[in-house]
Amino acid sequence: AGWRQPWVSSAALALLAQVRQDAWRCRHETGRAVLSETVLSALANVPREHFVEPAQAAYSYLNRALPIACQQTISQPYIVALMTDLLDLSATDRVLEVGTGSGYQSAVLAPLVGQLCTIEIIPELAVRAAARLRRWGYGNILFCTGDGYRGWDEGCLFEAIIVTAAVATIPPRLLAQLRPGGRMVLPLGAEHQTQQLLLVTKRQDATLCQRAVLPVRFVPLTGRH
Ligand code: SAM
Repeated sequence: AGWRQPWVSSAALALLAQVRQDAWRCRHETGRAVLSETVLSALANVPREHFVEPAQAAYSYLNRALPIACQQTISQPYIVALMTDLLDLSATDRVLEVGTGSGYQSAVLAPLVGQLCTIEIIPELAVRAAARLRRWGYGNILFCTGDGYRGWDEGCLFEAIIVTAAVATIPPRLLAQLRPGGRMVLPLGAEHQTQQLLLVTKRQDATLCQRAVLPVRFVPLTGRH
C-alpha cells in the first residue's frame, strides 16, 4: 500500500544517517542501538517535503520536529522511526493512530501493516492529511475526525496503538481496544513539559507491562475528555 518514489533521494539517505546516529546515541535509554531495517526503509521511502508546510520545505530532511498548520507539529523522524519500531509490527496487524497531524507517521506505518485507522481532532488537518494520503494511493488507511481519547468504534480491537500527542494518563478506552499480545506507544506526562515515551504491552492474560523508553516532547492531546 502507498506511494513509493522510484529512488531514495540523497537528502532522504542523509536523514537516515541522522536517524541511525540518534538511535546509537540513545541506545542506553531505549535499549535499541539499531532500528529495524524494514522500519528505516519505510521512513526513507516517504518524501517528507510533501508533509511539511511550504515555508519549512528547506528543513524537510533535518531530523527535527517542525511546525505545521493549526499550531501543531510534524514529529521528529527519529521519534517516528523509534515509535514504529517499538510497535513491532506485522503485515497483518490492524493499527490505531491517534493524532494524524500531517499524515507523515501514517505514511510510514501504512506499508508495514494490514490496516491503519487514524484519528485527528482538528478537521482542517484531518482533511488535508486524508487527501494527501489518498492521492498517493495509500489504500489501507481509514480516516476519522474526532477525539482519539475515546478510541475507534466500539468493539474494535488493535494489535498496535500509537498516540502522537501527550497524555497525562493512559486513556482507558485505548487500553480496552488493545488486543491481548498488543503493543501501545504514547508520550506520557504533563502538557508543555518533557514527557516519557511509554511502551505498554498487554499480555495474553490481559495484564499490562509498562516501560519508560525515552524523554520526549509532544504537543498535548486536546479534547474534552
Ligand atoms: N503524527 C503526526 C505527524 O506525523 O505529522 C504528528 C502529530 S502532532 C505531534 C499531534 C497531533 O495530534 C496533532 O495534529 C493534534 O491536532 C492531534 N490531536 C491532539 N489531540 C487529539 C485528540 N484528542 N484526538 C485526535 N488527535 C488529537
